[in-house]
Amino acid sequence: MKVAIVGGGIAGLSSAWALTKRGHDVTLIEQGELPNLLSASGDEHRMIRRGYGSADGYARTISEAFEAWEEMWGDLGRSHLAARGVLAMSQIAGDDGEKFREGYDRMGEAYELYEPKDAARRYPFIDPGTIRYAYHTKAGGALLCQRIARDLARWLQEKGAVLRLNSGVTAIDEQAGGVTLADGARITADQIIIAAGAWVLRLVPELAESLRLYRTAVAYLAPPADLAAAWAEAPAILDIGGKAEAYMLPPVDGTGLKVGAGVHKRPASAPDANRSPIPGEGESLRKLLSPPLARIDDYRVSRVVTCAYTFTADEKFLSYRKGKALVVSACSGHGYKFGAAIGRRVATALETGNDPALLAWLRAEA
Ligand SMILES: Cc1cc2nc3c(=O)[nH]c(=O)nc-3n(C[C@H](O)[C@H](O)[C@H](O)COP(=O)(O)OP(=O)(O)OC[C@H]3O[C@@H](n4cnc5c(N)ncnc54)[C@H](O)[C@@H]3O)c2cc1C
Repeated sequence: MKVAIVGGGIAGLSSAWALTKRGHDVTLIEQGELPNLLSASGDEHRMIRRGYGSADGYARTISEAFEAWEEMWGDLGRSHLAARGVLAMSQIAGDDGEKFREGYDRMGEAYELYEPKDAARRYPFIDPGTIRYAYHTKAGGALLCQRIARDLARWLQEKGAVLRLNSGVTAIDEQAGGVTLADGARITADQIIIAAGAWVLRLVPELAESLRLYRTAVAYLAPPADLAAAWAEAPAILDIGGKAEAYMLPPVDGTGLKVGAGVHKRPASAPDANRSPIPGEGESLRKLLSPPLARIDDYRVSRVVTCAYTFTADEKFLSYRKGKALVVSACSGHGYKFGAAIGRRVATALETGNDPALLAWLRAEA
């Protein structure tokens, strides 16, 4: 089968990986470089964790996600998962930190529970006076996205897939099976996968009913010198508790210490709008970390990275069939960790024609 893939984020790259492995003739078209630092998949790292709060469907599907990454590491010849484990905290009864723990309990997921003082002994950046408890799970950590993109691009080229970089797709012909590039070139295909992330509405405007566009930002922080060693070994932090919906990724082998927060996201008019950091944006992200971090004024914001992404109303992923084109959206702010598994599932859907099975799996309802 001849397949054209629009988009070199993790959904497009992983689909290219899975289809190429199965012997299909793949062309991947990306409007920027690989990795494209403006894409949702283009940041230094993203978290993978078993904790899914009240979303039990995804908590069940996550085992397949871990297993698919292992298959990908086997092909790439090295792992890009920094398996530091995952820490979460609760500050107030009923906060997200508590909900994630309840999800672990429902799923029978093992974790180590720490009283505040014990947590601060293990993780000296925590102010023990501000938390009710912390808990750590061994599975998960940080996926090193930029390295994954580079290695996948190399692997795809070695296996004969075609990469068209810096080539935006301007039109899709879903009836005949073809895409048109900005320079006027046309690529024909039996099937087209549209994995265009936040840019998807330009190619498939009717999805505006289902996908809302948002802008957010993450801040990279330099911790105080005496806490640098503790951060260098820290787990990923799934939720700091309280109301900030804040998470952190530790510095891993040259990547930075990062904070992001659900409360920071805002509706956006276009994926490329307001992509320069707003003055003070990094500082407001830094301040969200106290409580529960100790000495937050001793941290310095070193860099702010903006992101554009889409959400469905129920925060599930989406697929949508339009003639020979299949839109795949690993959206709603939690799709990276499923990347390799999404690629395999998309390849199966193209081979079997069973789009409903793909959608049910993407919605974690299979
Ligand atoms: C701040 C933030 C934090 C997140 N944290 C996590 C996390 O910790 N764990 C997790 O699992 N998920 C996380 N996510 C979600 C995750 O990043 C996304 O779900 C995932 O990266 C989406 O991948 P994608 O391939 O669907 O889209 P994208 O990565 O956006 O890729 C789409 C690609 O398509 C290209 N493209 C678009 N239009 C065209 C066109 N016309 N022609 C050619 N190319 C085109 C774009 O340039 C882009 O490279 C986070 C998201 C954000 C924004």
